[in-house]
Amino acid sequence: MAILKVSRMGHPVLRQQAKALTPGQLRQPATQQLLDDMVETMVDYEGVGLAAPQVYQSLRLIVLGYPDADPRNPDDIPLTLCINPEWVSLSDEKELGWEGCLSIPDLRGQVPRSREVVVRALDRRGKPFTLKAGGFMARILQHEIDHLDGVLFPDRMENLGTLSFLEEYYRYWQKSED
Ligand code: ZN
Repeated sequence: MAILKVSRMGHPVLRQQAKALTPGQLRQPATQQLLDDMVETMVDYEGVGLAAPQVYQSLRLIVLGYPDADPRNPDDIPLTLCINPEWVSLSDEKELGWEGCLSIPDLRGQVPRSREVVVRALDRRGKPFTLKAGGFMARILQHEIDHLDGVLFPDRMENLGTLSFLEEYYRYWQKSED
C-alpha cells in the first residue's frame, strides 16, 4: 500500500469529468491497489472522504468514512468504497454545513447540501448496492461525488462570506456553534 500525493485546486484533473469504470477495469489489480491506496491516503491525511481525481486519477471512484478502530469516528460513518456512484436526494430541503477538502488545504466554508440521499454504486467486486445516508455522511457523499464531475465545494457555496482559513474558522466560527 502507498500514500498518494493529493492534487490541489488549480490542477486541471480536479475540473475534469471523471470516467466510469468497466467491470474489467475494476477487476484489474491496479484498480484494486488504487482503492486500497486511496483509503490509506485518506486516513493518513485525516480526511473523511477522497475521490480518485484527488490522487490524479480521472476515474469514478470515491472512498469515505473511518476504519473500524478509528477513535475519530464521532458520526459512526463506516469505511465505504463506491465505484461509479450516483445519488438522488430524499429531501427537498437543503441544510448548511461546514466543509473542507484535502485539495483545498486549510479552508472551510458553509455549503448547502441535501439532508438525505440515496446512493447507488458498485462495490469493489463490481456488485451493485444501494446506500441511504443522512446528515454528515450524506454531505460527504455529495461532496465526493461532486469531485467526479469536476465540482469543488466553493462552487456550491451560496455565500462566500463564510469561506475561512482553518485558524480563523476555529477562532470565530466553531466556538459560536458549540
Ligand atoms: Zn474534496
